[in-house]
Amino acid sequence: MKEELLAFLDDAGYPTTIVTDEFVDPTDWQGQGMAAGTPFALSHTFLQTGPFRPPNVERRRPGVFFAGSGTVPGVGVPMVLVSGKLAAARVADYLRRSVMKSVAHRTAAGLGDRG
Ligand SMILES: Cc1cc2nc3c(=O)[nH]c(=O)nc-3n(C[C@H](O)[C@H](O)[C@H](O)COP(=O)(O)OP(=O)(O)OC[C@H]3O[C@@H](n4cnc5c(N)ncnc54)[C@H](O)[C@@H]3O)c2cc1C
Repeated sequence: MKEELLAFLDDAGYPTTIVTDEFVDPTDWQGQGMAAGTPFALSHTFLQTGPFRPPNVERRRPGVFFAGSGTVPGVGVPMVLVSGKLAAARVADYLRRSVMKSVAHRTAAGLGDRG
């Protein structure tokens, strides 16, 4: 492969002097903490993109939310930033609901603000 590429470059008139030669493959990415060596989490096929990606809510553990390329909306830096924003909105909503629930319980128990 390397020889083919060099021959192609040479034929096209480009210099073929190699200054740095580094090979990176999925085992390197796995060593950097990427599950199964995949740099993109789930592949971004249609049925694993946008609303079809795993949700950012962990229903079995209330109050746990996810951000990143493995959850909605998808892979790549712009999508991951959107994902962080969506997770932050989920957290804010969860906290608002928790406070409202707590106030409702206290009010029902006649504890008011101080109880
Ligand atoms: C070679 C390459 C080129 C790319 N090019 C582009 C591009 O041009 N444009 C673009 O938009 N996107 C590109 N991407 C994709 C983009 O980098 C990712 O989609 C994005 O960084 C994913 O963000 P993330 O926060 O979900 O995960 P990551 O950025 O992978 O962050 C996850 C972090 O969690 C850490 N971690 C893992 N396991 C644990 C653990 N158990 N405990 C604690 N920490 C842990 C990891 O070390 C890592 O720092 C590229 C990716 C690669 C690999």
